[in-house]
Amino acid sequence: MHHTKIVILGTGGTIAGTASNASSDIDYTAAQVGVSQLVGGVKGLDGDIETEQVAQIDSKDMSFEVWTALANRVHHHLAQNDVQGVVITHGTDTLEETAYFLQSVLNPAKPVVLTCAMRPASALAPDGPQNILDAVSVARHEGAQGVVVVCAGDIHSAQDVQKIHTCQLNAFGSGDAGLIGFIQENSLKLLRNWPLDQQIRVQVATENIAILNQVKCWPGVEIVMNYAGASGALVDALVAQGVQGLIVAGTGNGTVHQSLLDSLLKAQAQGVHIIRSTRCIQGGVLARTDDSFPSSNGLSPVKARIHLMLSLMGLRA
Ligand code: ASP
Repeated sequence: MHHTKIVILGTGGTIAGTASNASSDIDYTAAQVGVSQLVGGVKGLDGDIETEQVAQIDSKDMSFEVWTALANRVHHHLAQNDVQGVVITHGTDTLEETAYFLQSVLNPAKPVVLTCAMRPASALAPDGPQNILDAVSVARHEGAQGVVVVCAGDIHSAQDVQKIHTCQLNAFGSGDAGLIGFIQENSLKLLRNWPLDQQIRVQVATENIAILNQVKCWPGVEIVMNYAGASGALVDALVAQGVQGLIVAGTGNGTVHQSLLDSLLKAQAQGVHIIRSTRCIQGGVLARTDDSFPSSNGLSPVKARIHLMLSLMGLRA
């Protein structure tokens, strides 16, 4: 059968937000408009489209329950023969985390395109409709695969994307890796490869989903940051509470104040998993011969946290 259908899953966010004053892009409530209404309002969007509301939240409140539900629905739709790809409408605040989570769990051979907006649906000139149109074009593009993010015409990989601006319409960057491509006037210009599907992953994705569905409580993994005068107080408190893993957002190339380091080493000796990342938004940490902790392999602290949680739960990510 020919794959032509695009399924659009709604999760909320500013893209579905409304404000009482149309000229305000800041004072609004996220997650008010249903995905079918949002999609119905996008001029020029045609073809076989199905919508489904998976959640209706401000993505600052993203939860493991919503992630599990979303992974299940994406996996289900991608397995349908007539589905070409999935688009997800999402808030911008934790969009990079959801994208990385889905890529890690599903590593899909079909495209999964997350999109968003910086202005609410009720704005004088909302950016959501164009972003949805672009996201659907990307999902329909021949050869598109893996989890990507589309915002303001730019296409980012789940691995590299980060929200880097609090209010501009083009709020995302991909750092040193750069964009996968961009979309102009409905035509896609590819700058580098799609996230590569290196192996047949459908079976692994199914096993990963089964694990997620069984887990009652996700492992406690927190992020601590290094800064001038940093102490080990937070780490000591988290260890006392039974934390299983800590990501250190170190300074520069993952450096850590001696006081913080002492507490981290004590935590590690007690069996807490420690990963060294950086608070710098570009560059990633480079391994050094005298490192006490493994590095995050180029992942930002929030993505390194997801990676550690998934591996502690036994997923093959
Ligand atoms: N707080 C909103 C959210 O992440 C921000 C946005 O979507 O731009 O849902």
